[in-house]
Amino acid sequence: MGKPTEQVRDLTMRRDRYQCVRCGKPLDNTMASLHHRRLRSHPFDGLHKPSNLIWLCGSGTTGCHGWVHAHPAEAETDGYIVHAWDDPKTVQVTYHGLGPCTLNDDGSIIRTVIYHEVGPDTPYDPNYIDMLLNRW
Ligand SMILES: [Zn+2]
Repeated sequence: MGKPTEQVRDLTMRRDRYQCVRCGKPLDNTMASLHHRRLRSHPFDGLHKPSNLIWLCGSGTTGCHGWVHAHPAEAETDGYIVHAWDDPKTVQVTYHGLGPCTLNDDGSIIRTVIYHEVGPDTPYDPNYIDMLLNRW
């Protein structure tokens, strides 16, 4: 099954800004660990690729890394865990301070910018919609 190469560890550490993806705590070698989003128990070709790896504080049982494994359903909501049938490149991860992001295998990260959120409580205002349509 192997493990991530030194190059991938280094690349993902720089991508994650030397911080825990979940809580934003600065990481040092003693309290950081690399988490596999699609779990090691479900090996696939991309297991040790950057899109499947995020840095978390703690170990597999402590800190945020421990939290993720202890709360799989909640961790899945934020993309820290992806299903065995999902491609990690297509599932967004919530980064502390950045919000939802997409990870690529070249080590790049794309932040999703939400311009305007429309929810069930957003009032319906036809004038506003006309105004938007006329503007474009
Ligand atoms: Zn953390």
